[in-house]
Amino acid sequence: MAFKQADRLDKVHHSQMRRIFGLCNQLKSRGEWVGDVTIGQPNFPTPQYIKDACVKALEEGHTGYEATDGIPELKAEIIKKIKRDTGLIYDPSEIMATNGVAMGCFVSLMACLNPGDEIIIPDPVYFIYDNCANIAGATIKKYTLREENEFQVDIDELKSLITEKTKMMVIVSPSNPLGASLTTDNLAEIAKIAVENDLLVVTDEIYDMLVYEDPKPVSIATFPGMRERTIILNGFSKSFAMTGWRLGWAAAPADIIDAMNRLGFYMTSGPVSFVMHAAAAALRDEDGSVEMMRQEFNKRRMYLVEEINKMKNFSCLAPKGAFYIFLNITKTGMSSHDFCEYLFEKYRVAVIAGNLFGSSGEGFVRISYAASDEILQAVVEGLQKADKDF
Ligand code: PLP
Repeated sequence: MAFKQADRLDKVHHSQMRRIFGLCNQLKSRGEWVGDVTIGQPNFPTPQYIKDACVKALEEGHTGYEATDGIPELKAEIIKKIKRDTGLIYDPSEIMATNGVAMGCFVSLMACLNPGDEIIIPDPVYFIYDNCANIAGATIKKYTLREENEFQVDIDELKSLITEKTKMMVIVSPSNPLGASLTTDNLAEIAKIAVENDLLVVTDEIYDMLVYEDPKPVSIATFPGMRERTIILNGFSKSFAMTGWRLGWAAAPADIIDAMNRLGFYMTSGPVSFVMHAAAAALRDEDGSVEMMRQEFNKRRMYLVEEINKMKNFSCLAPKGAFYIFLNITKTGMSSHDFCEYLFEKYRVAVIAGNLFGSSGEGFVRISYAASDEILQAVVEGLQKADKDF
């Protein structure tokens, strides 16, 4: 039988990042050394108190179906966190537990967008937003985040993208792959535009606990007129070193959450029961390990920024959050793709080409400093050698 996939998948592609990650793992399994800074995954194990809470939940018998939109204990902790961070008060009917922010992205876009609706997405950005928008049949418009603008949103450009078909805009702050955070002033202007044009805003705040500089970024949901039109996405993967647990949440007005929940039910029928119990414990942060990890990331960030900016051909802005350096390689004269191949073939250092996150990432590569100190030192040495090649 000649298989013909559904049309909605025509613009949906496998993640190139996972391919590179797989290639690195193949080499490592053959005993070869690779300076692998490709993946945005903390090199720390999940904190012990969270693992203990998971074991306890299993032993207490939380192995059956439980509330598919999130157990009450988890929702209560999420509500407390949002209140602590933003001052906003959410009702349990305004919270949904998701199988990671990846699912939060999928259900929010699929629940809100009709084919032909327009969505405004950052470029560059972690690629789930483009792919989910394509699955929804939406038309994608991109706003460019430029290094010379400290990766802030160009408000005139944003305004120029809005038409009567624009329904939604996405912001990711702190950003993957940029490490940049949108300033309060920039967010205030974006919020004003969203209100004036009656847009929904999806704000991906998965790195909100991994920030290194004051003032701390604020949520766009806190600006006047925004709570009613904002879908906050967040999750446990990064700040709690829980990438494999697959848990996140969405916070939005109850009618939006209800639509997302109906869709989510037919996808996964809810996250894993005992994981939800462990995640509620995670948010109580009982032993300070989340802060310890943040401090370690911060040390690595400072080390990389200092070493890189001593080099002749490479430079970077100091990231404000997340755990990525967006390395400017334009002085080498190579494309991002060719530079990645070169660095890998010659120095066994694996980074991600910036243009995989959008065309404006051309001329950059992403380094994840969620890797060990040892790997990061070797990556710096590799870059220092490569620096002399140009
Ligand atoms: N959003 C951003 C900005 C990310 O960087 C990632 C993972 O790298 C995700 C979402 C996916 O997170 P999760 O593991 O919660 O699905």
